[in-house]
Amino acid sequence: MAVVHKVKKEWPVGLIELTAGVFAYVQPTGESGVSNAGLLIGDHAATLIDTLMVASLNQPFIEAVNKATPLPIVRIIHTHHHIDHIGGDSFFPQAEVLAHKDARERILKSGLLKPVFARFMPRFAGEFDRVEIKPPTVAFEHDLTLYLGNREIRLIVFGPAHTPGDVGVYLPQEKILFAGDIAFFYVSPLAHEGTLKGWLRACERILAMDVETIVPGHGPIGTKEDLRLVRDYILLIQQEGGKALDEGYGPLEAGKKVNLGPYKEWREWPRALVNVYRWDLERKNQLDAPLDIALYMKIIEELEKMKVE
Ligand SMILES: [Zn+2]
Repeated sequence: MAVVHKVKKEWPVGLIELTAGVFAYVQPTGESGVSNAGLLIGDHAATLIDTLMVASLNQPFIEAVNKATPLPIVRIIHTHHHIDHIGGDSFFPQAEVLAHKDARERILKSGLLKPVFARFMPRFAGEFDRVEIKPPTVAFEHDLTLYLGNREIRLIVFGPAHTPGDVGVYLPQEKILFAGDIAFFYVSPLAHEGTLKGWLRACERILAMDVETIVPGHGPIGTKEDLRLVRDYILLIQQEGGKALDEGYGPLEAGKKVNLGPYKEWREWPRALVNVYRWDLERKNQLDAPLDIALYMKIIEELEKMKVE
């Protein structure tokens, strides 16, 4: 059963200072392509955590960053490879780009996916041609600690979870975690490239950490309370989706059988179909199998229909 909770529909947006020199940039609505980012200001230079997708989203972000600090942006840390977290990198030509090695591999290929992005995010279709992919210059495989002056910044490898190369940016003194897309708050999680088991492990790991503030990849700034809802959502997909699959339903039908409860008020709730589809593959140890394009397109078609219902 889905846990009863109050669903947030609106939240504070813009560049929000969490503590001296640490900012979250939060966008409204949080649907596909509309993500959050972060800014860490040091003594002589500043670091970004992700950028946004297309120019129309990056322009107000860059203005807000420039207003917050005159210091140069010398580093961008990526939470994962998705276009809505990397599309603005080329606006910061002097920045070194850090990503998990599995994220880097996918970032290098993401230019090829522009027609797919245009199809699935039609609102931004006219802008993808101008997105310039900037290859990460530093790739890492394990947790890594950086120092910005006296500030400790731990890059924690959470993947494979939402994607193969998920990384959280953790400030232990400040008890702040930029969780990337491990955390979708009040916007439905999407596991189209992920593993639900890995995602669950990442949630449990965060819940055991000394963290007070969580900046999600999509949705409002929150706490472990909000992350528990993400964990419970994944459990719901596994349990109810799994039960319907056990009863012999195909992945598409099984996705429709999940009783989402309050999660049906989360934005993009029909993503449950994609998540059950992934859970079916994961249960069969087929996450790396070639995509069943016909079935996947049917799911996407169904998903678009459910959105307007
Ligand atoms: Zn993502």
